[in-house]
Amino acid sequence: MTDRMEASRPVGFQRHDHGDCVSSAIESAEARCREDGLRFTPVRRRALEILLEEHQAMGAYDVLKRLQEEGLGSQPPAAYRALDFLVSHGFAHRVERLNAFVACTHPGADHVPAFLICTKCERVAETVSIPARNLLDAAAEHTGFTIDTVLVEAEGLCAACQERRSA
Ligand SMILES: [Zn+2]
Ligand SMILES: [Zn+2]
Ligand SMILES: [Zn+2]
Repeated sequence: MTDRMEASRPVGFQRHDHGDCVSSAIESAEARCREDGLRFTPVRRRALEILLEEHQAMGAYDVLKRLQEEGLGSQPPAAYRALDFLVSHGFAHRVERLNAFVACTHPGADHVPAFLICTKCERVAETVSIPARNLLDAAAEHTGFTIDTVLVEAEGLCAACQERRSA
């Protein structure tokens, strides 16, 4: 799926071996599905690979279009169900701010993701939002509030886009 030439691309915003990154994400999804008895169908796998390609947030419609071009998931519900599957099992996350999806960069780990969203190139970096979660937990405890979900999403400019702007 990935070629060696593209080995060094930003994840989120950091350079890394993207070929490794994609194959380890797919492998860990496979292993999780095997362990938990989940079906990693071709549409689900391909949807995850598409999300992993650029580490960019993609709308459901864009993922659907790609799947259709490849003759997979020609029915919109199949593509949407594949995305739901990826999100509900933590292989991908929904970025509410963008109404889009990104592949998880540390699948398997139990975490609350935090997103840094570049408004220029639309790359999204995922970081773990434990500190934010702790702050909210403390606040919730004081007010007797029960937290179901926490969203942490920041918008701004990534280093590469700042450089390009000042060049
Ligand atoms: Zn990567
Ligand atoms: Zn994640
Ligand atoms: Zn950027």
